[in-house]
Amino acid sequence: MKIICIGRNYIDHAKELNNPVPKQPVVFMKPPSALLVNNKPFYYPEFTQDLHYEVEVVLKVGKNGRHVQPDFAKDYYPEVGLGIDFTARDIQQRCKDKGHPWEIAKGFDGSAVISHFLPLERFNRNAIEFGLRKNGEEVQHGNTKDMLFGFDELIVYLSQFFKLQMGDLIYTGTPAGVGPVQIGDVLEGFMETKTERVEMFRCEIK
Ligand code: ZN
Repeated sequence: MKIICIGRNYIDHAKELNNPVPKQPVVFMKPPSALLVNNKPFYYPEFTQDLHYEVEVVLKVGKNGRHVQPDFAKDYYPEVGLGIDFTARDIQQRCKDKGHPWEIAKGFDGSAVISHFLPLERFNRNAIEFGLRKNGEEVQHGNTKDMLFGFDELIVYLSQFFKLQMGDLIYTGTPAGVGPVQIGDVLEGFMETKTERVEMFRCEIK
């Protein structure tokens, strides 16, 4: 399986990091070894002094496909979950300054926190509300209606380059409010279905 991530997909977040608003999706990948499942703790890595959380809605690809046409895109992600795209912001800045790839700032072990998955039909598919609490206080709140590139557009775009395969994960970008974490912090993500708020993951920084 592969983990595809979208950067700068919410205007407010692109602006908070002084990035231009992209005309096409900004795409990068994490290796499968980045996954952090089952609410396991995250161990703060030694190579960074500025680890940031980014809460993101995650699509789980449900069937294989290449060159998916817009009318069929919605069939490719029957389940959604929530995750954190942990980012070593200091390393990412150095990579950006040099025009280098971001992988060491984004794809390290444990950098892809992932929740359980829920059927998409439980949500308002064009307006999924979600958020993140740090130590009990809400620090990020987003709604997928504010994405620059919606789920269907992402499926169409990505499948031009990468064969989508069952089980692939697509991290769809983070809203504004990203920030640093310290050892001892607890991060908790939630999503709003049509009827209720569902707690999706809990991640303690060790
Ligand atoms: Zn991200």
